[in-house]
Amino acid sequence: MASSKDIPLSPATRLVTSGRDTEAQKGFVNPPVVHGSTVLYASAEDLHAHRGEYQYGRHGTPTTRALQKALTDLEGPQCRGVGLAPSGLAAISTALLATLKAGDHLLVCDNVYRPTRLFCDGLLRRYGIATTYFDPLIGERIAELFTPATRAVMVEAPGSQSFEMPDVRAIAEVAHARDALVIDDNTWATPLFRRALDQGVDISIQAATKYIGGHSDIMFGTIAANARAWPAISEGIRLLGVCAGPDDVFLALRGLRTLGVRLAQHQTAGLAIARWLEARPEVARVLHPALDGDPGHALWTRDFTGASGLFGVVLKPAPAAAVDAFLDAVSLFGMGYSWGGFESLVIPFDCSSYRTATTWAPGGPTLRFHVGLEDVEDLKADLDRGFAAFNAALRG
Ligand SMILES: *Cc1c(COP(=O)(O)O)cnc(C)c1O
Repeated sequence: MASSKDIPLSPATRLVTSGRDTEAQKGFVNPPVVHGSTVLYASAEDLHAHRGEYQYGRHGTPTTRALQKALTDLEGPQCRGVGLAPSGLAAISTALLATLKAGDHLLVCDNVYRPTRLFCDGLLRRYGIATTYFDPLIGERIAELFTPATRAVMVEAPGSQSFEMPDVRAIAEVAHARDALVIDDNTWATPLFRRALDQGVDISIQAATKYIGGHSDIMFGTIAANARAWPAISEGIRLLGVCAGPDDVFLALRGLRTLGVRLAQHQTAGLAIARWLEARPEVARVLHPALDGDPGHALWTRDFTGASGLFGVVLKPAPAAAVDAFLDAVSLFGMGYSWGGFESLVIPFDCSSYRTATTWAPGGPTLRFHVGLEDVEDLKADLDRGFAAFNAALRG
């Protein structure tokens, strides 16, 4: 078989080809799942010189190397390395601990994943790092929030509950002019639909628990960094002892191989359901940046090459009992938090109690949908049953 190394390939093809070393795997397509801590050295000389492709289980195995190569390729030409973490939240906390020190100031987008806020307000604060939250729509006005101590800005585009879209390129320009790093939780789009490192981001994080794993069966996180940030990230990972279990590493790599077809389907089905919901009389607004009327649509068009299957819905004012009747009546949409798997989900959310820079007042109950890989007509019929129960509860 000829090598495809020098042929220019699209990202969808590279998802399939990257990180594979058929020869080293004795012909097998996939790497082995290496369960290993101890690595033996061939001689005393090798031992003293730390000579050997692998030296210690925590620092890498043939399984982690294969995944890291594939992820580095997916994150694009700016990527200098990808660290692996046991969860998305561990990837976020590791990135922040690795790049900040006591006395530093951090700017965080008001719509970030809630446990990210809890980490900043808890452990980072205790370690002498102060956080200021900012309006996701702040754009270049973020300059006004910088202090001489501001060392990093953390963003999420779009926020995974409220779906506001920060202008990450504008924020990055301001941050870089002030020598601060930009850390981006890119879980919603994945690097396949948005190459954050090409857009001024220094550290691109994935809760790989979601779309990269893709089957609701692993907890996993990745930290991709450019040349500027990689030395701090790789040192932080070593000092903190962050690593991931071999079975999860293998499942992340296995998920990555089908990410292209899965995301394409999540996008198509997600938009079909989002548009169907937009036309429902019970719905006030759909929060989905790939929809024409969405306030984040222009930025989505500029920065993204696709949309995932996660979006929000604001219902017209209705009592909680009607919303609960909807949730109990649907059966293909399960109630659960961790999205990105093959199955559809719905969960009520209310971020009003964990906003500090902005007020969240959507004007009605809010639901977050994840559209999975089921047939779209089956999903619509399921939602129809949900709305029938909702309307029956409204009539009391
Ligand atoms: C789920 C999620 C995380 C955390 O990932 P875990 O693997 O559950 O720790 C972080 N950011 C976003 C946007 C998420 O959706």
